[in-house]
Amino acid sequence: MQVYLLPVLNDNYIFLLHNPDTNTAIVVDPAIAPPVKAKLAELGADLIAIFNTHHHWDHIGGNQELLEAFPNLVIYGGALDQGRIPHQQVFLNGGDRLDFNGTFGNNPAEVFFIPGHTIAHIGYYFPNSGDLFCGDTLFGGGCGRLFEGTPAQMLNSLQTLAQLPDLTKVWCAHEYTLNNLKFALTVDSQNIALQQRLTAATALRAINQPTIPSTIGLEKQTNPFLGGDRPEIQAKVGFTDPVRVFTKLRRLKDLY
Ligand SMILES: [Zn+2]
Repeated sequence: MQVYLLPVLNDNYIFLLHNPDTNTAIVVDPAIAPPVKAKLAELGADLIAIFNTHHHWDHIGGNQELLEAFPNLVIYGGALDQGRIPHQQVFLNGGDRLDFNGTFGNNPAEVFFIPGHTIAHIGYYFPNSGDLFCGDTLFGGGCGRLFEGTPAQMLNSLQTLAQLPDLTKVWCAHEYTLNNLKFALTVDSQNIALQQRLTAATALRAINQPTIPSTIGLEKQTNPFLGGDRPEIQAKVGFTDPVRVFTKLRRLKDLY
């Protein structure tokens, strides 16, 4: 499975997953349709599915146009997003497994229920290739804002994703890494891995290259929202309880 990253709007990423053996494709969070259609035309591939992680407009805006172009595709989203995602046909819960009846080769996907950014947010994980599509839940060096869920929900979602193998590739839906890492340094200044990551990310962005994907291992080392057990972070926020640490970090980041 090949993952193509399509930068759109200000800082969104659409991901096009292509299986060259079956010449079929799946698109994750199509904010808009034209770049997806262009890439599919270049590949000569058939689009069999849209994976929506949540209902925000910059993740679903291309649904209708893609459905018109590929009338047989299937649109997947979270069960709790029923009524909020245009043309959604499949309503997924955590633990669901998708195999597309073999039309995407031997690349099953597993569904994670990861609320917090919204109450219905889900992620898609491909265990065979180690690719995670986590929408606006886990970002490079940060996490999504809490629009609907509670801090405890978001923390639990992040900790669930952190249990995936360290080499899992994290494909998040926005290029927020640089700003996130600068914030992270304000609460975790002695973290060498974090300092090195900021240097590397700065160099990538200077030549307009994505910092995505990161890995679960790198996020565990450098993302403060997964670092609630680190003494410097606890000292900075004045708490040791994981939910209180997370809540304070999220509030500080909202104000940053
Ligand atoms: Zn969102």
